[in-house]
Amino acid sequence: MRIAGRILAQTLQRVSAHVKPGVTTLELDQIAYDFIKSQGAIPTFKGYHPHPSLPPFPGTLCTSVNEEIVHGIPSDRKLKEGDIITIDCGVIYRGWQGDSAVTVGVGKIKPDLEKLMKTTQESLAAGIEQAKAGNRLGDISHAIEQQVRAGGYGSPREYGGHGIGRRLWEEPSVPNHGRAGTGVPLRPGMVIAIEPMLNLGGDETETLDDMWTVVTRDRKPSAHFEHTVAITKNGPDILTLA
Ligand code: MG
Ligand code: MG
Repeated sequence: MRIAGRILAQTLQRVSAHVKPGVTTLELDQIAYDFIKSQGAIPTFKGYHPHPSLPPFPGTLCTSVNEEIVHGIPSDRKLKEGDIITIDCGVIYRGWQGDSAVTVGVGKIKPDLEKLMKTTQESLAAGIEQAKAGNRLGDISHAIEQQVRAGGYGSPREYGGHGIGRRLWEEPSVPNHGRAGTGVPLRPGMVIAIEPMLNLGGDETETLDDMWTVVTRDRKPSAHFEHTVAITKNGPDILTLA
């Protein structure tokens, strides 16, 4: 899982370096696909088909621009100066998964978006800090929620983190809202994806007609950062670092 995580982190670095006005999200997707393949790994999301009622996901990346929260589909959409884009990716290496996301500004972005992105990163860090043996799952959720509310941001209730291992989604769910001291006890050996999503507006979401792309109902921008984190006897170990 550490190798999958490292390949994934390097993928996100490469893709982020190519984010600029005029680039299409499909071009970013191709950069990710080519790099993951060159490392002998598999892009998890491409062809991902979690339910018969959904079309298979076509991209290596989820590219979610501005009001898109998660699961945006790469396309010939050109990024514009001032946009923000969430790049979410999954990698499988020898059967083991990694899952990570970053939000990146396109050129110069407004201060309120800088702050939204910074607070999202801080809420992820606060959640990771609680990912240690002896704590409970709700301690992570509570730490994230505190940061969200302190910043006055919205956060969708229906999406959040998850256990991860040989499958992308495993038990337990890791919500971005919750009460400290509740939920399953955290034990060494557990691996979870922690992924706060912060909205400049309200909590409410909608899914577009493509059946994948989740947007804010008020169409205000959203940011998302994610790491895959192992719980060890020595504290949280972030697996998705370059
Ligand atoms: Mg992800
Ligand atoms: Mg995830």
